[in-house]
Amino acid sequence: MKFYNTLTRQKEEFVTAEPGKVKLYACGPTVYNYFHIGNARTFITFDALRNYLQYRGYEVTFVQNFTDVDDKIIQQALKENLSPKEISEKYIDAYFKDAESLGILKADVHPRVTETITEIIEFVQALMDKGFAYELKGDVYFDVEAYPDYGALSKQSLEELKSGARIEVNEAKKNPLDFALWKTAKPGEPSWDSPWGKGRPGWHIECSAMAKKYLGETIDIHGGGGDLVFPHHENEVAQSQALTGKPFARYWIHVGYLNVDNRKMSKSLNNFFTPREIAEEFDLEVVRVFMLSAHYRNPINFSREGMEASKNGLERLYNALDNWRYYSEKTEQTPVEGDEARLREVENHRTRFTEEMDDDFNTANGMAVIFELVKTVNEMITQKPGKKVLETAMQLLQELSGVLGLLTKRKDQDRSLDTEIEALIRERQSARKEKNYPRADQIRDELTAQGIVLEDTPEGIKWKRLAKK
Ligand code: AMP
Ligand code: ZN
Repeated sequence: MKFYNTLTRQKEEFVTAEPGKVKLYACGPTVYNYFHIGNARTFITFDALRNYLQYRGYEVTFVQNFTDVDDKIIQQALKENLSPKEISEKYIDAYFKDAESLGILKADVHPRVTETITEIIEFVQALMDKGFAYELKGDVYFDVEAYPDYGALSKQSLEELKSGARIEVNEAKKNPLDFALWKTAKPGEPSWDSPWGKGRPGWHIECSAMAKKYLGETIDIHGGGGDLVFPHHENEVAQSQALTGKPFARYWIHVGYLNVDNRKMSKSLNNFFTPREIAEEFDLEVVRVFMLSAHYRNPINFSREGMEASKNGLERLYNALDNWRYYSEKTEQTPVEGDEARLREVENHRTRFTEEMDDDFNTANGMAVIFELVKTVNEMITQKPGKKVLETAMQLLQELSGVLGLLTKRKDQDRSLDTEIEALIRERQSARKEKNYPRADQIRDELTAQGIVLEDTPEGIKWKRLAKK
């Protein structure tokens, strides 16, 4: 398996620190509002990456934090007339709800800043003891000059960075690039006691402290959206490596932007859509297809056409499953001539899928293999293959789609529904036989309302479910 590593700017063979185990950390949201589908792109990527690593046999420990202390949270609290704690609680609940609707599973740990204060203070103190940080009237800064490798991740020298740096309000800092590890609290702000007085952590330190607390000194994969490379991740590397003297993350993975008219979707540009808004028009599983149809490092432009195409693609997958199930139920157990070759052809898609996905997690090509499987099997059906071929195809389609977090939603809930629908269809057929047309029509309307379409075929009535909305 290979990943493009931001640290080395090249694709590298994936070798974990401990064989068979992956320690994965992704930066999570600042919880002051509903997240938008730009954020969702990054969350979906790491969710699917975790699935894929598990699929390839790794034991994965996945940590994704919540930034629940921040200026934006304090401002939003004033706006909504709630306390900062109430704001972060509200939007953490909303995160889990929205994430679930996008098929994003929980991480193993979702640490919060407010629950990591002790570790953060210890971390900052240790950096001061080692001479990497200094105090200025209750604030503590990281001293970038004391850490010679500063700029290694974003590939910029201290001089280059300095010339691009904004002139800061706090001119007492030794270097304009020095960043806050701890900040004195202003009146009314959330604060904690510390060796430097009442205050709260700076932003970057939380991820270094949480990664160390839950995953140890060196992690395998660290990631987030591309906007985090500098300064956030650069600062994380500096803090962690200054403290431990060991590499912080072996592989850095950064997700390309979800753009709108070629500009990054963001709260500040007010060009964003939340999953809640999208759900008014599309099933959110369509969003997953849309995001994973591109390579994670490439930018994606958000468009209605793209969403419509993804919706059709998803419908194709569900219809294939329904069709194959229908034919498989009508087919005898006994193998048919040519089945061995057909089975090989079907199974071959698994190998091709993993080859594509092993190459820097290429979900775009992985999806393409899934659609090829659908095409191949649909064509095979005209040759009336045996039951085993159809069952294998169904399982494989669900297996590969499942890795991408697709086709998982309707599977369980609909199995029981399927029997209900089939009972209704049988009832409608007998109603028609008895010339009870009002009842037959009533049943058809009922089925239509549930998004079920009936089709007369030479083998009898066939039904399929239209993708929602
Ligand atoms: P934030 O709450 O702003 O810290 O963002 C949470 C995550 O979403 C971070 O990993 C960001 O890098 C990522 N992110 C923000 N905007 C976008 C976007 N338009 N496309 C992809 N990822 C994004
Ligand atoms: Zn972070």
